[in-house]
Amino acid sequence: MPRRPIAAANWKMHLLRAEVAAWGRAVLGGIPVPDPRVEVVVFPSFTLLPAAADAFAEGPVAFGAQDLHPEEKGAHTGDVSPLQLAELGCCWALCGHSERRRDHGESDELVGKKVAAALRHGMQPLLCVGETREERRAGETFAVLARQLAAGLASRPATFCLAYEPVWAIGTGETATPEIAGEAHAFLRTELERLGYPSGALRILYGGSVTPENAASLIAQPEIDGFLVGGASLDPGKFLAIIAACGFAAPTDEDPPK
Ligand code: PEP
Repeated sequence: MPRRPIAAANWKMHLLRAEVAAWGRAVLGGIPVPDPRVEVVVFPSFTLLPAAADAFAEGPVAFGAQDLHPEEKGAHTGDVSPLQLAELGCCWALCGHSERRRDHGESDELVGKKVAAALRHGMQPLLCVGETREERRAGETFAVLARQLAAGLASRPATFCLAYEPVWAIGTGETATPEIAGEAHAFLRTELERLGYPSGALRILYGGSVTPENAASLIAQPEIDGFLVGGASLDPGKFLAIIAACGFAAPTDEDPPK
């Protein structure tokens, strides 16, 4: 089966309610329906999820949470339960984004619990892994990726997607070259096989300063199945161009698997 590309927008801590509706109109108006070749997902802040539910009630755009607590309820002030997210219609959950690992000290083990919780509540986990600049310089990239992957998948989830997001490329304008990204994705596939997953069927996104200008050369890498886009996703025109780049590279049923 060919792997269907994903274009995912991580809005981080941006936008207000009215902007969600405008973004939704612009992007929905630009996506070919009813059979889009690219799966489109949006990750708004928690407070914007009801607005996202309204904006994307009809059409091909799914939405998910940028984070979740691994437990269903309890004394966890400021956290949001997977039950509450599922109730709002979230179909996806980001797990282990590097900004949460950095800002909130999320451990590999906690990220693994979040992956399990997302799946338990019917949300597709998008597990983020990636090395810092120091780790890359020290030659530790593959060791870091292997560690984050093994811990993230400790619960043996039956279904999930991965995002390779080198920390040094996130929000810096310094995109990984297609070769660097392709090499990391190929490594992740080998690791997935080692962990007993059919890696050829799993989708691995690249994230880190993706723009309309660099999307085509990145998606041309056979191991890259789409993007997790931060900054550029806030602009509907830029995000549509990135979706289009994924669509041009999207295999048809007649194509051999990537
Ligand atoms: C991200 O937030 O996951 C991300 C990749 O951000 P940016 O595209 O801005 O680098």
